[in-house]
Amino acid sequence: MNNISLSKSRYCRVVQCNKMLWMDINKKEEAIDKARDSVLENGTKVGELARGYFGDFVNVEYNKDLSKMVADTKKFLKDAPNIITEASFNYDNNFCSVDILKNDIDGFEIYEVKSSTEVKDIYLDDVSYQVYILKNLGFNVKKASIMYINNEYIRKGKLDLKQLFTIKDVTDIANSKQDKIKEKICEINEYMKTKVEPEEKISMKCFEPYECSYWEYCTKNLPEKNVFCIAKMGKKDKFELYDKGIYTYEDLLNENLNWRYHQQIEVDLSNEVIIKKDEIKEFMNKLTYPLYFLDFETYQSAIPEYNGTWPYEQIPFQYSLHYIEEEGGELKHKEYLAEAGIDSRRELAEKLVRDIPENVCVTAYNMSFEKGRIKELASLFEDLKEHLLNIHNNIVDLMIPFFNRWYYTKEMQGSYSIKYVLPALFPNDPELDYHSLPVVHNGGEAMSIFANLGNYSKEEQEKIRYGLLEYCKLDTYAMVKIWEKLNEVIKE
Ligand code: SF4
Repeated sequence: MNNISLSKSRYCRVVQCNKMLWMDINKKEEAIDKARDSVLENGTKVGELARGYFGDFVNVEYNKDLSKMVADTKKFLKDAPNIITEASFNYDNNFCSVDILKNDIDGFEIYEVKSSTEVKDIYLDDVSYQVYILKNLGFNVKKASIMYINNEYIRKGKLDLKQLFTIKDVTDIANSKQDKIKEKICEINEYMKTKVEPEEKISMKCFEPYECSYWEYCTKNLPEKNVFCIAKMGKKDKFELYDKGIYTYEDLLNENLNWRYHQQIEVDLSNEVIIKKDEIKEFMNKLTYPLYFLDFETYQSAIPEYNGTWPYEQIPFQYSLHYIEEEGGELKHKEYLAEAGIDSRRELAEKLVRDIPENVCVTAYNMSFEKGRIKELASLFEDLKEHLLNIHNNIVDLMIPFFNRWYYTKEMQGSYSIKYVLPALFPNDPELDYHSLPVVHNGGEAMSIFANLGNYSKEEQEKIRYGLLEYCKLDTYAMVKIWEKLNEVIKE
């Protein structure tokens, strides 16, 4: 069975955009995949956990030779009633594996497992495609459902799968889509035969439900600076302008746009540097000694690991803290990084209150994140609450001068994120280059690698821990450098 041409993931890609599958087959090398590691890992863990939802089950092991999976499924099906995970079927070169199949005497119940906390439209297409294959093979599909994460579940003791998952019955929707699926499959078969690159207009489908990895390829003929480079403008608004033929910076200048968008374009075209000294000075006066620079790293797990946690809660596992005790004083550093596989929140909170005295000025970049985590810790630990809330209330956001565009250059590309502000203020400074860090280069990597730390050997863990410490340390060092730069510009 080497000629299986459609799988459920391929089918869903075509539902999003016909050209995606054509590109997968003919120009795969053009794909630029955005890091979705933690999303994929959560999906795998959730899928494996969900297998036990209905009790004992038999699993069809993955095999590159899909016909082997189909043959194994056939064997298991004979033992009805039973529960089969990854039950695999092929109808007319359309292949699918069903996450959970309840093989009852009088027919099937199928469950598609998702690590999301909501049912997206694309999931309905996914399930409907599976129903199409099973029905065409002559099976009775009594029920088709989506099993997804209940974000209101709070873990109390042992993990409760019945509480963690929500099941939505989508049988009627799946049945109503059957004719359309047949049509779509015929269309896809024709489409896949063509060697001529299809024309496909870019639109919201390039980002919904998932960001397409061919975006750069499909927009290669647009001018380098175009409407899609405008920071913080909603995608729908961008496409509205694009569809009207308004996409160059010159064209956009004639539009009645929000001041931020307008300013981004104007500064880009004029090379002007905006520095509002009085506003920056007033802001800097709020930063008093001893001065602390704080940054947290967190990870999120779809499956709550500890008592009192909920799906996708941000669990802080690390912080970096630079500080200067008095004017002209030495720059010092403290840090915390949890051991793998433990609930580190108490340890982290205890160390944080040891490291940051009460009533001192603390800065964070985009402080709502740090403040949110500190508040959560304060609500967990009554004895540390007062001190933690004192830290919380003394945080000043170092992002403010950039958010308010009191300091702005074209290199910031309309953004106030530290990842844009830092290289704009310190171009080509190797000391501040995240790319040259060992192991971890961004928050997503930190999150993903820490969540899996326990799976590495001791030696590897040491290297990773060093990488995490260096990464987080650079985050607060970068804040110190930004603060120094602001000091410089107000003195000039
Ligand atoms: S970028 Fe848009 S048009 Fe191009 S393949 Fe992806 S979804 Fe289709």
